[in-house]
Amino acid sequence: MTSPLLGQSQAALEAWAVAEGQPAFRGRQLHAWLYRRGAHDIAAISDWPLSWREGLRAREAETGQPLIGRLTEVHRRVAADGTTKLLLATRDGLQLETVGIPSADRLTVCVSSQVGCPMACRFCATGKEGLARSLALHEVVDQVLSVREAMERRPSHVVFMGMGEPLLNTEVVLEAMAVFCRDLEMAQRQITVSTVGVSGALPRLAERARQVLGRTQFTLAVSLHAPDQRLREALIPTARGYPLEELLEDCRDYAWETSRRVSFEYILLAGVNDAPAQAEALARLLRGFQSHVNLIPYNPIEEEEFERPSPRAVNRFRQVLLERSIAVSVRASRGLDQDAACGQLRRAFAGSR
Ligand code: SAH
Repeated sequence: MTSPLLGQSQAALEAWAVAEGQPAFRGRQLHAWLYRRGAHDIAAISDWPLSWREGLRAREAETGQPLIGRLTEVHRRVAADGTTKLLLATRDGLQLETVGIPSADRLTVCVSSQVGCPMACRFCATGKEGLARSLALHEVVDQVLSVREAMERRPSHVVFMGMGEPLLNTEVVLEAMAVFCRDLEMAQRQITVSTVGVSGALPRLAERARQVLGRTQFTLAVSLHAPDQRLREALIPTARGYPLEELLEDCRDYAWETSRRVSFEYILLAGVNDAPAQAEALARLLRGFQSHVNLIPYNPIEEEEFERPSPRAVNRFRQVLLERSIAVSVRASRGLDQDAACGQLRRAFAGSR
């Protein structure tokens, strides 16, 4: 199977055109059709000779492999705040979520890196179903184009915080970032990769990022969720194989290697990890660390008894960190009104059929 055209650089598309017996400039035209105009289908490329397009279409029909490789939109939900959640289908019939989160000055796309996830974090809806497979490059790139089409607006930011664990699909994630910057003209600084931690993955990420992207400017966010190993293991079963101290040591090395400050995510579960004493412990853990903590009040999912903390508890936790000079922000939940928070659309949709 040849790789889909979506995700390829202009130089690679030129080489493809030449290999097809066409002049190189057809590759440049294709580049503009893929990334600027968002073509889904080779037949739509009206600059090209009809006879060639027909030949390509015949080949697609014969092999059953569309040349471009776009996903198909299965379902769309738009929340009152404009948050737009898309359910997209792959060629092999899997479904994944991607979300466009608008504000006055930015459009953030929350991208999936896998269909499902093997990490099985207790509070996460995606983890309940295990992993189907990692996404290919064109399937990651497509998500940004699909959100651009659905919202008729150019995405400015990407966060790898959709379905899946990005560091189990590191190569594709890095290549997708290269496409966002090179072909979709986004700034690497506006991209965030969120990981719950995979043993051995951070040193490799630092090294491969340098090789694939040149300078590392994207933000690495690490899902910490607990100030000690025991509680962390209870919430994140895979943490057993990757002790907190080792994870933090790897974060320090990563920050040193890349000259980028690492940020930490901390989901707040009422009565589980939101006590002021736990905020103090978190502050001690991160002392001397050039970092930033993003607090995420839990979005309830069906299977679990966890509860979302009150705004007062969230604020109290935040204050403790602030008093200890830790930079902290609280993530506003978006799209909750349509039951469209993390991992929930795919299941809501599956349940409604
Ligand atoms: N696997 C990666 C990225 C996907 S999740 C990671 O774990 O970092 C992105 C963030 O959303 C993570 O911090 C994750 O812990 C958080 N999250 C998952 N389920 C949630 C829920 N029900 N409510 C609030 N945040 C959740």
